[in-house]
Amino acid sequence: LDRLLRGLAGLEGSWEVKVTGGEPFVFPGFLDRVVPGLVARGHRVSVLTNLSAPVEELERFAHLAGERLAVVSASLHLDSTTPVAFLGRLEALRAAAHPGTRVVVNSVLVPDRLAQVRAARQVVEERGFRFFPQVMKVKHGIHPYSPDQVKEVAMIVGGLERAEASREANLAPSYSGRRCLAGWRYFVLMQDGAAWACRSGRRHGQGWLGNVASGTWALRPEAKTCPYPMCPCAVPANRGMVEGVPARAGGPGDG
Ligand code: SF4
Repeated sequence: LDRLLRGLAGLEGSWEVKVTGGEPFVFPGFLDRVVPGLVARGHRVSVLTNLSAPVEELERFAHLAGERLAVVSASLHLDSTTPVAFLGRLEALRAAAHPGTRVVVNSVLVPDRLAQVRAARQVVEERGFRFFPQVMKVKHGIHPYSPDQVKEVAMIVGGLERAEASREANLAPSYSGRRCLAGWRYFVLMQDGAAWACRSGRRHGQGWLGNVASGTWALRPEAKTCPYPMCPCAVPANRGMVEGVPARAGGPGDG
């Protein structure tokens, strides 16, 4: 971890470092080492969490990150919690967070739980949070929803075409053929130090940047053309890293 933090300290300027998992709060050093380590090196911290940590830990996280807490993407898993319990914890985290922190609720459009997702959306928005539904991905693409499920998904996202254009849902779009800053201004860092240009690249065994832990890595010097049929993660597009796709920082789907 120290070697990873040293590697990140060598990045030019202030980066947004989004910590995902698994569940970041389960890692014992997350609050004691990762968050302070990133903040001390001048980076901003974002997190993808299922909010299973005790409220005191969520609040401590907010205080440690302070004004450098950029985005909280809270993942609502309807098989393991209820919207009411989940939102109670998220409200505590929001209350402790810096006012500039953006908070988004993600929920996967699980095929046999679509009615629950729809009901959850209403509760989430009533409590003043942004809701960002995501299509369920499987190994080689998107889950094959039945025609009835597609109709239900369309209702949840407010119309497929509109949601695709506005990016108010993650429908796993294709940006194939567009220039993308992945590998140059964005990269994926694994716990063993492996660095990849983006998640699709890693899945295809491409976009290898080297190993941050051993110091044998380098960012690309420029943007490259995206060769992949699906962009599974909304982060690069929402940060304005894909040609022709405007940034949506702070908007739905920011996570
Ligand atoms: S558009 Fe998405 S899939 Fe394509 S290179 Fe960029 S981050 Fe990777």
